[in-house]
Amino acid sequence: MINRINMYDSIKNRLLEELKEINRNGRFKSERIIKSAQGSKVKIEKNRTVLNFCSNNYLGLASNNLVIRKASDVLKSHGYGLSSVRFICGTQDIHKELEKRISKFLGKEDTILYAAAFDANGGLFEPLFSEDDAIISDALNHASIIDGIRLCKAQRFRYKHNDMIDLEKQLIAAKNCRSKIIVTDGVFSMDGTIAQLDKICLLAEKHDALVMIDECHSTGFVGPTGRGTHEELNVMDEVDIITGTLGKALGGASGGFTSGPKEIIEILRQKSRPYLFSNSVAPSIVGASLAVLDIIESNKTFIKQLKKNTDLFRNEIKKMGFEIKPGNHPIVPIMLYDDYLAQKMANELLEMGIYVIGFFYPVVPKGQARIRVQLTAAHNHSEISEALIAFKKIGKKLNILK
Ligand SMILES: *Cc1c(COP(=O)(O)O)cnc(C)c1O
Repeated sequence: MINRINMYDSIKNRLLEELKEINRNGRFKSERIIKSAQGSKVKIEKNRTVLNFCSNNYLGLASNNLVIRKASDVLKSHGYGLSSVRFICGTQDIHKELEKRISKFLGKEDTILYAAAFDANGGLFEPLFSEDDAIISDALNHASIIDGIRLCKAQRFRYKHNDMIDLEKQLIAAKNCRSKIIVTDGVFSMDGTIAQLDKICLLAEKHDALVMIDECHSTGFVGPTGRGTHEELNVMDEVDIITGTLGKALGGASGGFTSGPKEIIEILRQKSRPYLFSNSVAPSIVGASLAVLDIIESNKTFIKQLKKNTDLFRNEIKKMGFEIKPGNHPIVPIMLYDDYLAQKMANELLEMGIYVIGFFYPVVPKGQARIRVQLTAAHNHSEISEALIAFKKIGKKLNILK
């Protein structure tokens, strides 16, 4: 017993050292407590209400009344949880229904649900690829893709972010492999950059590779009817595999999925470890996700409002003299290039009731510090104006604007 306590002491000291180091480098992540539902306005400490510009609640459905009502109806009809994985006694009619609906929405044959998109990516590669195969991955892909690839024995090829010339080089380097798959985020969350899927699909065809995209920052709102980047870039049928989340635009609770050809989905059901060895998605989330798809498919106002809000904010913030990453995604990175300035600006904005986050190394590359603003369909015109006024005021105060 005494030995065990001593043992923890040595680990504890090491961890305390590491925490100090994280603090010293200004990389300690603290968590702000929110006391209300997610939305354009949130209540934080000291009963302050602030305008929220840093959520992934793109369509504003996280506190939508229809969605909440459906979650509560299904809670009553299907219970709180399944206490089982899918293949034992964790598959309800609504799980199958949601898988069908997602497949149809994305234009794919079949879909498998996971507890999170992190698991969908984590469990995707190992069942499908081995030593003989090649995974060709964008250098800035999400952590869950990187981890998923690590868990698989396939040969790894990495291409420079969004660089089609380098992608082709890697495809050529992988040419003797049995199967090849190009893997990319559909939208990159730090920049709001949309992958060049049209070009990627042409290269895939030329070099006989599959294409997989992670659509966490796209499903539900990118593309004319919100199906995602494959719709936006007109390659609905050329993209083979899509992973995505229920935890962002599609209601914001949790859960993820992989969609694609039925044989791939069947192999995942048989072999994908985060699916086999983890609990079924909660019924209320599954039911509410069906309501979310009903809303998106029958009512275009949410997507339209999001586009309108995004255009308004992007245009006005540029006019003011801020530098932003170009594009049309509701992720708007306001470039400051200085870690301290990004933190300072986020703090000053919060004082004025605007909740945004400064991002700096290691979350973004060194020297690329920024404020990342995220618009949602829930923001109204006056809330966006209020944010713009605050940005102008703080921009001047911190000598970012003339
Ligand atoms: C958020 C995100 C994930 C993880 O999604 P969860 O469902 O929250 O696990 C995966 N990939 C990308 C690109 C993301 O932005």
